[in-house]
Amino acid sequence: MALWITDECINCDVCEPECPNQAISMGPEIYRIDSDRCTECVGHFEQPQCVQLCPVDCIPVHPQHVETREQLQQRYLRLQAEQQQQPEASSRGGASALAAQAKPAEA
Ligand code: SF4
Ligand code: SF4
Repeated sequence: MALWITDECINCDVCEPECPNQAISMGPEIYRIDSDRCTECVGHFEQPQCVQLCPVDCIPVHPQHVETREQLQQRYLRLQAEQQQQPEASSRGGASALAAQAKPAEA
């Protein structure tokens, strides 16, 4: 049962960082859920985290994406496999060095 976000969403930004599958993103006006990535938190949590956190209860089950727990589990396994194939993009840096060089102008 992939979920979806209705137009009652108030863009509070709470759900997006809590999704373990990176299924939530900002749309043209409100947040949206990628039904190809939402497992209803199967594999990660007992309850859908976005539903638990949403202050306005605007995340119901998508009527066109009703799925069994088995299907959700398969999606979870697929996402995990994809994640393991991608190299970690953790090499960040350099910005602080640049910032150190760029001293603010003093009047
Ligand atoms: S139910 Fe879980 S996986 Fe689906 S959008 Fe919400 S937080 Fe993400
Ligand atoms: S938690 Fe609810 S109201 Fe807040 S951004 Fe997510 S869907 Fe919208």
